[in-house]
Amino acid sequence: MKIKTEQFQATAREELKTRHTRTHLDLVGLLLREKRQATMGLFPDPAAALDLGRTIRAEAVERLPELLEQFERNAAARGAVVTWARDAREANDHILRIAKEHNVRLVTKGKSMVTEETGLNEVLLKNGIEVFETDLGEFIIQLLEKPPYHIVGPALNIPVRQICDLFLDKGIMKEPTLDPVELGHAARIFLRDKFHYVEMGITGVNMAVAETGTIINVENEGNIRLTKSSPRIQVSVMTLEKVVPTMRDAMHMLRLLCRNSTGQLLGSYVSMDTGPHGKGELDGPEELHIVILDNGRSSFYRDTEAREILRCIRCGACMLECPVYGKIGGYPYGWAYSGPMGQVLNPLMLGQERTRDLYRACTFCGACKAVCPAGIDHPRKFLSYRAGDARGDPTYGAKRRPWTERSFMEMFTWATKRRWRWDLGLRSVRPFINRHAREGFIRNMKGPLAGWFKSRDFPGMAPKTFHDGMHKRGK
Ligand code: SF4
Repeated sequence: MKIKTEQFQATAREELKTRHTRTHLDLVGLLLREKRQATMGLFPDPAAALDLGRTIRAEAVERLPELLEQFERNAAARGAVVTWARDAREANDHILRIAKEHNVRLVTKGKSMVTEETGLNEVLLKNGIEVFETDLGEFIIQLLEKPPYHIVGPALNIPVRQICDLFLDKGIMKEPTLDPVELGHAARIFLRDKFHYVEMGITGVNMAVAETGTIINVENEGNIRLTKSSPRIQVSVMTLEKVVPTMRDAMHMLRLLCRNSTGQLLGSYVSMDTGPHGKGELDGPEELHIVILDNGRSSFYRDTEAREILRCIRCGACMLECPVYGKIGGYPYGWAYSGPMGQVLNPLMLGQERTRDLYRACTFCGACKAVCPAGIDHPRKFLSYRAGDARGDPTYGAKRRPWTERSFMEMFTWATKRRWRWDLGLRSVRPFINRHAREGFIRNMKGPLAGWFKSRDFPGMAPKTFHDGMHKRGK
């Protein structure tokens, strides 16, 4: 998957023109908010349930190394082959090797953000292996060759008419229809056929239980279950943070995940796999491979502040609550992870230099933090990234700002520390600013501050400040 996060501003400007998407996002956001509040309200004590979830995630992240080793031991004891991958390339190479060793020509996939992160589909296709996404939303965006729009609803923004045209064009159905049920039926018939011949299944993991070595997936379509149980070989790809200590913890997080992502009490299908199928068992693969991907996470795990994002359970609630995401949707973020969780995670994984526009695009309303079942304080992270930017802190790839910008900010800070300095400064710059504001020079200026002024009005300054006026009255 090509990362286009640097094009955030340009793509956001384009997306702002798509009225259909914005109306759709408003409606979906409203509907899900209502459903979330209703289902969360069904906990005997909703606040305590939320607190418990936040504690479970905090504990899991604090004990991550120990829990991952425990998970590996228990999964391996039940026959799973556990492999650690340092980065996307290692993970993709490993999965490709398994496919080649078994002469696999056809793969079905369940929805998985981690393989979006690694760009696995491109690697398999390049090596002559057919790949079919089987989640309806993922299937649509695969045909459209687009990135996911939302981590829970990847094709949330695609109009029904466009899906109809797409299915006709790709030969998935013969007669046009705008009935969503019939469109879903056409996709189902097309994909069911693949399950007869599939040789290898690839899915993500919603939770990995350390005490039992079990992997858990939750979904609404049944395609993950078919992907996991039809072929002889199953590969489950997970990132480090998917581990939870106990089955009891997993059950509680599952309830929170479903309520927060789709407003359901529980997803339609929850599958739990502990190792490949045993003697006498009918379902399940003969080989179960679990790939645990790091891809930069262990480097920021050492930073006790940054590791907070590893608590995320990918419910997607923060996205539809975010007023910025609500206007521009998921494409401008340019990668698998969008909205507030992407704004926190992407700078840590891709570096601040490439992702600066993401965390600057925040209104600090705090809606993401308020709704997050994992207790992530997104706004605090955005502030720390901005501070790192201003300091030119290289920890996450921020570059030293140009000397003009630094000198300007230092002078500004110096001037604001004493009243007389500020007044003197205002008196000196007023004639200059007023002359240039009149001539439109500031709006059209070039250089480091150009971007700032382009989107902001800069009227001439009043002949006297508010303080001057107050001072005179007081006399
Ligand atoms: S950051 Fe919180 S609200 Fe957003 S997707 Fe992750 S768990 Fe859900």
